[in-house]
Amino acid sequence: MNKALHFASVILLFMLISCNGSSNDESTDKDTIIVPPPVIEYGFNLDSFQVIRDTVQNGWTLSHVLSPYGVSQLEINQAAEMAADSSIGLKYVKEGSPFVIFAAKGDTSKTALYCVYPKNIVEYVVFDFRDSVVVELKSKPNKVTEQILSGEIVQNSNLTFALDQQLQDINMTGEMAEYIAGVFAWTIDFFRLHPGDQFKVIYQEKSVEGTPYQVGGITSAWFKHQDKEFYAFQFALDSARTKVGFFNEEGKEMRRPFLMAPVKFSRISSGYSNNRFHPVQKRWKAHLGTDYAAPKGTPILATANGTVIEASYNGGNGNYVKIRHDATYTTQYLHMTGFAPGIKKGVMVQQGQTIGYVGSTGLATGPHVCYRFWKNGKQIDHRTEKFPTSIPMVDSLLPSYLEYIKPIKEKIDSMPITPYQVEEAAE
Ligand SMILES: [Zn+2]
Repeated sequence: MNKALHFASVILLFMLISCNGSSNDESTDKDTIIVPPPVIEYGFNLDSFQVIRDTVQNGWTLSHVLSPYGVSQLEINQAAEMAADSSIGLKYVKEGSPFVIFAAKGDTSKTALYCVYPKNIVEYVVFDFRDSVVVELKSKPNKVTEQILSGEIVQNSNLTFALDQQLQDINMTGEMAEYIAGVFAWTIDFFRLHPGDQFKVIYQEKSVEGTPYQVGGITSAWFKHQDKEFYAFQFALDSARTKVGFFNEEGKEMRRPFLMAPVKFSRISSGYSNNRFHPVQKRWKAHLGTDYAAPKGTPILATANGTVIEASYNGGNGNYVKIRHDATYTTQYLHMTGFAPGIKKGVMVQQGQTIGYVGSTGLATGPHVCYRFWKNGKQIDHRTEKFPTSIPMVDSLLPSYLEYIKPIKEKIDSMPITPYQVEEAAE
């Protein structure tokens, strides 16, 4: 109904314009002719110039770009030198890049007044040859808008695959995957997503001229992993926004550092060392772990959320458990007298969960847990590792936080999951 009404008024307006246009009173009808707005590109009014478009070919330099348009070799050399300056950073032109020459209207020799070369999707270089050569780096107007996306993990798939369906740009897919994994890194093992896991994200998208090119960050997200739901809302704890973090629906910070030790009550009996005298093997060797001595049977705790990737026995380690926490960190716990119930390969564990009990299986002189830590596949001393600090929300902030997230949570809850699109076979 509204649309029909709108359509009718457009028709009416059009008729009015036509009537005026056909009127004999020539002095007034000029005012009523609707002139389309000028087409602006790279800040130039295209109507004011002779616009020549071309593309950089294989092996071209700036000379090939400019010399056909009346630019002297001296000017080209000056322009190339100025463009290579660090403030502009254009050392060479790339094959396939489209460039634009602006010449004066009616100039049959097509002498370049300006040349515009796109450095990337946002930035472009303007060569000005009107007088002495001027080279400037400019940016297209950057637009940041709020966007939503959602998706589902299917069999033999992963997050990137699912995101690839939603985002047109391959770089944005990678950025988005990192943002999501970053927010849920302490809660979800992204190496072990399950078919049926779902996600919803509210994010900032950067675009130029209607083309999205970058994820500006995510502001809230929801992830359903193995039927457990996780919410994350970005929130600043101070007005200067120096303490910004992601918190769950109860105001608990998403990012949690590791527990200091895998046992609550213990002493370090042997520290991490690249060279120590092994008490059982009676020789000098590296000790790439930290030993916590504790009475036999003391619970051993997972130091952070993760997935058990090994729970087995070998001669040196005895009974041991290895946990992958995220793409960066993996921990291992040796010499257990036994595993906690349910602890086996593939099981998700929570920070502080008992995974086994202190013992002296394998090469051990007395009951202790040897705690080993990997960062990016390399063994490190976890006690010297600076983990991202957790920012606890003070109680006084909680009411305003809960108020703040209420409409966002409602928005997330009402978002449908975009179904996975099966690509149809070409006929
Ligand atoms: Zn040890």
